[in-house]
Amino acid sequence: MVQLLEEMEVYAKENKIPIMLSDGIEFLEQYIKENKISKILEIGTAIGYSAIRMCVNNNIKVVTIERDNERYKEALKNIKKASLENQITVINDDALNIELEEKFDLIFIDAAKSQYIKFFEKFKKNLNYNGVVISDNLNFHGLTKQKERIQNRNTRQLVNKINKYIEFLKNNNEFKTTFYDIGDGIGVTRRVENE
Ligand code: SAH
Ligand code: MG
Repeated sequence: MVQLLEEMEVYAKENKIPIMLSDGIEFLEQYIKENKISKILEIGTAIGYSAIRMCVNNNIKVVTIERDNERYKEALKNIKKASLENQITVINDDALNIELEEKFDLIFIDAAKSQYIKFFEKFKKNLNYNGVVISDNLNFHGLTKQKERIQNRNTRQLVNKINKYIEFLKNNNEFKTTFYDIGDGIGVTRRVENE
């Protein structure tokens, strides 16, 4: 398992695939253990790295969505190598196209930064009452906090979108978010009544 994970880290680096940073994924693993999480929805599988790491040593189920076909196929291969086919289901589609009936204890948002509000609005109905939404990359390599230094227009637009999502979370009456400077910035969002 350690070897497979190391190979995936190398593959991700070589192919510029933004898998979770190690302290971020360790935070998630810890959260899953401490909060007795058993069903997770992940938006943004990439090659299956975070899905596999969440499942190793945790008896949980993960449904994960990836729109890119190459990455989807790579994820299936890796999940098979890890013998986690019974725990991880990968859906090859755009998350905004699919409807799920199931409820989850944790929804992990780690996909296109420009769509975070849409993902949140769409999938909050799939969140168990005591569930949590965890969002990755809220610091966007530190850029969300130093907007004026960004030269590239696309990057600036993305940073604006992430900042809009952060504002959306901060101003949400139904949910309360705690922000952590872990990995590339993580938000942990729970229903207000569950404080
Ligand atoms: N969670 C992974 C990394 C995900 S990278 C890990 O840590 O190992 C983000 C992925 O989200 C990319 O592979 C991208 O193709 C996918 N993605 C982006 N927008 C998406 C969408 N709307 N629906 C499904 N997948 C999406
Ligand atoms: Mg990420």
